[in-house]
Amino acid sequence: MTTYHGKCYCGQTEWEATLEKEQASHILCHCNVCKALSGSTYTLNQIVPKANFKLTKGGEALKCFTYYGESGKPVHCYYCPNCTAHPYHHQTVLGDDKIILRTGLLDKAHEFPVAAEIFGKEKWGWEKEVAQTFETLPPP
Ligand SMILES: [Zn+2]
Ligand SMILES: [Zn+2]
Repeated sequence: MTTYHGKCYCGQTEWEATLEKEQASHILCHCNVCKALSGSTYTLNQIVPKANFKLTKGGEALKCFTYYGESGKPVHCYYCPNCTAHPYHHQTVLGDDKIILRTGLLDKAHEFPVAAEIFGKEKWGWEKEVAQTFETLPPP
């Protein structure tokens, strides 16, 4: 297990995530919600036990935006109201003990490999495949 540090762009919020070796990797999400929220073609994510994620500075200032995922269950997205960086979200369909971490905001994120690509059905045609791609989510 290794502890990685993250901070939002303005520095108001900081956090730590303690990850198993295989969790220190990116899952690229090509879904249309990720495109809209990021203004980009995919986001960088990992599913992490909530117990392994800790807000260390400014966590109380985070705001929450909620949308409803494909499951019909709410997805709570936590973001810095000052700079809009989005450290994590909670997909309630996964239960209360897991969060989705935006791995691209961690220090050393540039050293993480890509573990998988999800929501390949919404991926734009000019994007090259960099890891195993699933139409939606991998089978459980
Ligand atoms: Zn910020
Ligand atoms: Zn997505």
